[in-house]
Amino acid sequence: MEKRAQLYEGKAKKVFATDDPELLIVSYKDDATAFNGLKKGTIVGKGVINNKMSNLLMQRLEKAGVPTHYVKELSDRETLVKKVSIVPLEVIVRNIAAGSFSKRYGVEEGVVFDSPTIEFSYKNDELGDPLLDEYHALALHLATPEEIEIIKKYSFAVNEQLKVFWRECGVTLVDFKLEFGRLSDGTVVLADEISPDTCRLWDSKTGEKLDKDRFRRDLGGVEDAYAEVMKRLTAHI
Ligand code: ADP
Ligand code: UDP
Repeated sequence: MEKRAQLYEGKAKKVFATDDPELLIVSYKDDATAFNGLKKGTIVGKGVINNKMSNLLMQRLEKAGVPTHYVKELSDRETLVKKVSIVPLEVIVRNIAAGSFSKRYGVEEGVVFDSPTIEFSYKNDELGDPLLDEYHALALHLATPEEIEIIKKYSFAVNEQLKVFWRECGVTLVDFKLEFGRLSDGTVVLADEISPDTCRLWDSKTGEKLDKDRFRRDLGGVEDAYAEVMKRLTAHI
C-alpha cells in the first residue's frame, strides 16, 4: 500500500490518498480543539490512543454486525480505511444527560435516561454544526430516508455494544458522536473515530471524567485520563 497526497487536514486527523482509489490512510494527531475550534491545545499521546482505541472498537463492532470503514492498522498513528463519502450528519447517542443536552434543556448532568436518545447535527463548521431533525436532513438532501433509518439502527446497535463493553471495563458510556459514510456502491458504513475525543466516559465508581471534557473544562489530568481508559480497554478486549 503506497501513501499518496494529503487530501485533507482536519482538527484531529490528516487524511491521505493511497494507490487504491477505494482506500485512504488516516493519521491521528495530538491536536485538540473544542467549542468549534475556539479552544486549541495539545494532548500528548492522544493520537496514538485514539487510533488504537478506535480500531479495536470498530473491529468489535464489525463482529457484532455493524459495518465500518476499518481495514488495517498501519502504525501507532496511521490506519488504512475504506474511502467513504461522509454523510454530513453528526449522530449523537446519549444514555445520560450531559454537555449540550444538559445546557439546552436545563437538566442536571448525570440524570440517567429511561432509554437512549438520538439526535443529529448538520456537519458544517461554518454554521457551527447546528442541531437538526430528520425532516430537516431530508429537506437539505443530506441523506435518504433509507439511509437515516439504517444510521439510526446502527447507532443504537453501537450504543448497546459499547455500553456493555465499557461497563465491563468499569466505565460508564454517557454519550458519543458517530459519523457514517457511503462506499462507492452506496453501502452505509460507520466511519471517522470512536475515542475519548468523541465519547463521554465516566469512571463507574467515582464518576470521574475520563474523556475530552477534561480538556474542554480545564480539569487537568487530560493525558492521564486518556491513558487510563486505554489501559482499561486493552486489559479487557
Ligand atoms: P474535522 O474535519 O471535524 O476537523 P478530523 O480532524 O477528524 O475532523 O478529520 C477527519 C476527516 O475525515 C473528517 O472530516 C471525517 O468526516 C473524515 N473521514 C473520516 N473517516 C473517513 C473515511 N473513511 N473516508 C473519508 N473521509 C473520512
Ligand atoms: N461530540 C463530538 N464532536 C462534536 C460534538 C460532540 O465528538 O462536534 C461528542 C462529545 O464528545 C460528546 C457527545 O458528542 O461525547 C455529545 O456532545 P454534546 O452535544 O453534549 O456537545 P458538547 O458538550 O461537546 O458541546
